[in-house]
Amino acid sequence: MADRAAGYFWQAGLERRRTSLVCPEKPERCAVLMPERIFRAAGVAGRAETFAARGESILRPVHERVYIEKVKTAHRAGMRYLDAGETEVTADVFEQALWAASAGCEAVERVLAGEFLAAFCAVRPPGHHANRHRALGFCVFNNAAVAAAHALSHPGIDRVMVLDWDVHPGNGTMEIFLDDPAVFTLSIHQAGLFPESGREDIKGRGAGEGFHRNVVIPPGTPTPDYLARFEQALAESVDAFAPALLIVSAGFDAHYGDPASKLGLDADSFAQMTRLALQATAPHTAGRTVSILEGGYNLSALVDCVAAHYRVLCGA
Ligand SMILES: [Zn+2]
Repeated sequence: MADRAAGYFWQAGLERRRTSLVCPEKPERCAVLMPERIFRAAGVAGRAETFAARGESILRPVHERVYIEKVKTAHRAGMRYLDAGETEVTADVFEQALWAASAGCEAVERVLAGEFLAAFCAVRPPGHHANRHRALGFCVFNNAAVAAAHALSHPGIDRVMVLDWDVHPGNGTMEIFLDDPAVFTLSIHQAGLFPESGREDIKGRGAGEGFHRNVVIPPGTPTPDYLARFEQALAESVDAFAPALLIVSAGFDAHYGDPASKLGLDADSFAQMTRLALQATAPHTAGRTVSILEGGYNLSALVDCVAAHYRVLCGA
């Protein structure tokens, strides 16, 4: 019998590492999300879980071996960035990114085992811009894609939906599964943001044609209109696909206080989106949901949004 409380997976100890330089994707993002603080803000009795880094074999279904090797040796090779100038190389970039990707695998296993219905992974670096062979925009390994691939290796799990509501497109996740009908990616994002991708005419390729959807929201769109587009996209996608598991690429940088956002979402909006996503998918997933942190760079907004999201994952 699954507990109503959702598992909360946090990289304990990562917040004390000072390896990042000046990037907004910094250790403080993890520090402010310590479980006790979120449980108090959410007003729920949460379930704090720690987890260990797994072996790099968890990355292989979604990342090319040569890319994994590149990340592993980047610091020794004197590289400053893994991409054109955003994704910094630190002494432990490989270790941190592998650890972050491990959270989703742990959460997937424990949700599928029935230990809890839902889980949230408060991890960094984020993952959704990374594709099979390159890092991009703070993302090293694609945490959501690794979790989706891991879920698909379990008997009875043949379709996984990745819902990405980060303000930026979940382009890496979509590229990884572009020709794969086992993973439906639905990304809702603000128009005109980094990276120049996430167009609505991209719907998949080959066997994956029709299994991907981008919803592009113009800057300044009122929140009720955003929520209506969100709900409509879910209604048009979820029942046709019938996912066995929902994975959320939960970025909170569409919050009005985030530097990247020209939208009006607040913490209540994210609670409502969580509710809508669970309602839409539960007939197929039986509520099984694994949510993984992506962006969100205004620290106080991040705390409020994660608390609001987690509260709904706990069934409150
Ligand atoms: Zn983002």
